[in-house]
Amino acid sequence: MTRSMEKIVALCKRRGFIFQNSEIYGGQNGFWDYGPLGTELKRNVRDAWYHDMISAHNELIKPDGAPSNYQMVGVETALIMHPQVWKCSGHYDLFHDMMVDCRETKARHRLDQVRIRKVSFEGESVEQEDGSRLDSVYVSTMSDEDFEAELTSEALRAFGKKKKYADRLQWDGDATTLDRIPESDFNIVVGPGATKAGTLTSPREFNLMMKTVIGALGTDDDAAFLRPETAQGIFVNFKNVVDSCRVKLPFGICQVGKSFRNEITPRNFTFRSREFEQMEIEFFCRPDQSAGWYTYWRDRRYEWYQKLGISADRLILRDHHAEELAHYSVGTADIEYAFPFLDDGEFGELEGVAHRGDFDLRSHMEGKLARDAAGELAVEQNEHGQPRHRGSGKDLSYFDDQARERFIPHVIEPSAGADRATLAFLCEAYEEDEQPDDKGNMQSRTVMKFHPRLAPIKAAVFPLIKKEGMPEKAAEIFGELKAAGLSCQYEQQGAIGKRYRRQDEIGTPYCITVDGDTASDGTVTLRDRDSTEQIRVKVADVVQEISERLNS
Ligand code: ATP
Repeated sequence: MTRSMEKIVALCKRRGFIFQNSEIYGGQNGFWDYGPLGTELKRNVRDAWYHDMISAHNELIKPDGAPSNYQMVGVETALIMHPQVWKCSGHYDLFHDMMVDCRETKARHRLDQVRIRKVSFEGESVEQEDGSRLDSVYVSTMSDEDFEAELTSEALRAFGKKKKYADRLQWDGDATTLDRIPESDFNIVVGPGATKAGTLTSPREFNLMMKTVIGALGTDDDAAFLRPETAQGIFVNFKNVVDSCRVKLPFGICQVGKSFRNEITPRNFTFRSREFEQMEIEFFCRPDQSAGWYTYWRDRRYEWYQKLGISADRLILRDHHAEELAHYSVGTADIEYAFPFLDDGEFGELEGVAHRGDFDLRSHMEGKLARDAAGELAVEQNEHGQPRHRGSGKDLSYFDDQARERFIPHVIEPSAGADRATLAFLCEAYEEDEQPDDKGNMQSRTVMKFHPRLAPIKAAVFPLIKKEGMPEKAAEIFGELKAAGLSCQYEQQGAIGKRYRRQDEIGTPYCITVDGDTASDGTVTLRDRDSTEQIRVKVADVVQEISERLNS
């Protein structure tokens, strides 16, 4: 396996894809900065999504697998919204993770992310916080990658034993996570990085929304939240869009933008960050057609990643079990990718596709909904029999003028993360192989096999040597490619083989070399990144040839 997270993270820093945020000050945990190449890559991911879902969507034609033709429009809404939005959406009451603190290490962990396993070691014991000793404890790790090995080294550390004694550890049951054992067992858990057992606190709720203050007074009444998802900006504008844009059901409103979540343990590079970007579609349809639309979007979004180069072996569509579904959801599926930081057979979420029924529009009309005793969604009431969180009171229903019916549309929500998708494309692209150098000797190379649409740099132009008019000719071609809107690089330094390697490492699909023959026959070499095959192309045809290849 050549793909390892370590190598990918190192390449991202070395070549300017992704940097730790505020690195010169020691970094800000959970925040990342994109360098010049990462910016291009992520922009291409976003643009591919917007192009394929919205700009290039033809509303007059029924796509394969869709119940009918449909319209798609975009919005761009503010990061901060009226606090009542989050009360009605459920984020204020429900958007939290369970966490525990460790009294010894002072670290805070998300309950479901602490991996644990029970273990003992022939006659040895581990100290508890109160000074007593235990023969059998749970050891723990926060690691996702190779967590079994991590648990072994944690167990040896807890019992003060060297690596060579690993086979004398006596395991009791399989590894699990901290949320799966009763709280009464926490006193025998050695927390991640701790030396004693029983230092973890009781689990507590932790709201993931980031608070901020609006205006100069800074009182509690001025508190607001940075949006934890872009979706609510779409729901609260549903009526504005219907009234202003002549859209008819079924149609989708889409938005790309930043979201913020106060993740307890940001980790796995950009996978779990505190600031990230989402690409969300809220697709509004008739309730009686929502099941068909759910299947359509689920399958369409699953295919989208594959069309951009994610191998089907590393991508799964996982339908949620009934008990996993959010309280409003009729069906949800996750599109998941086998990120290299996960163990074999494990997958991490790239996108969720959820059938949300009429939950969101109704909540913003009537007040926050919850299931009542009969299991029906109804406005949640306080002790005075009034809505617990009041809705806007505005009519967000839709009038279907063909069926002469008024109803609240149902919603299908494909919700993707731009940073997670970018990370998956980075991981998928990474390859190491062997290619012959100028003298025919095999040399190992690192190559980022990005789909040409996503590659940050589409072509590089080189003069073979820095004389005989070659730099001037190469600069001319470079100028033409730029004028055609293609991101490209010009490089004249170093041996040609080295220049190819440098471009392979950033995933440039094509390299163009001006050489001794260019002046006499008017051709240049065009080298393909993946096959390393070289052909000769007329200078006059270079821009067209590259453009055609990129679009094929
Ligand atoms: P997870 O279970 O991984 O926390 P989620 O189910 O809470 O994710 P959603 O609320 O469905 O995620 O958000 C939609 C998408 O937004 C996710 O599929 C993911 O791509 C992205 N996303 C969510 N949280 C983060 C994060 N902390 N960092 C980066 N991307 C995120």
